[in-house]
Amino acid sequence: MLKININNITETEKVGYILGKLLTGGEVICMTGDLGAGKTTMTQSIAKGLDVDDYVTSPTFTIINEYQGRCPLYHFDVYRINDVDEMYDLGYEEYFYSDGVSIIEWADIIKEILPKERLNIEINKKDNIDNREIIIYGNGEKYINIIKLLSEKI
Ligand code: ADP
Ligand code: MG
Repeated sequence: MLKININNITETEKVGYILGKLLTGGEVICMTGDLGAGKTTMTQSIAKGLDVDDYVTSPTFTIINEYQGRCPLYHFDVYRINDVDEMYDLGYEEYFYSDGVSIIEWADIIKEILPKERLNIEINKKDNIDNREIIIYGNGEKYINIIKLLSEKI
């Protein structure tokens, strides 16, 4: 588990960018944190690290946005999902178990269908408006290795 104390948005972006650089495709990244915690901000910098040129925006109304970088990036925001069946209708398995990177905002809403092996990013707001606590942990060798490399680079 990696716990990072963040003082401003630039630091969040730096962590995201370095993480994005470490991704090789096939990863599932599950984000949790309140509204305004920084899930989309973090996703935007992960996308930069993945060499996505397009501007990444929150897919709140579409559930999923797709981008192309070094590999495909599937950006989910499941905040408005009422039933996990909506994820089946979307064909989520085609995305989660692909060579692309899947990032899921509000992942706890669909926890019953998340792959066992995944990277979890929890962003917690603090009293100071720009401060955050970011907790990163993973299941599976691939993710444990990513976290180790990330901790060495930040
Ligand atoms: P979420 O997707 O979790 O709802 P967003 O990334 O859309 O959150 O919004 C985060 C907001 O908080 C932005 O307005 C951003 O400028 C602000 N912010 C302030 N400090 C930070 C920080 N350290 N990390 C991320 N966002 C921050
Ligand atoms: Mg968001």
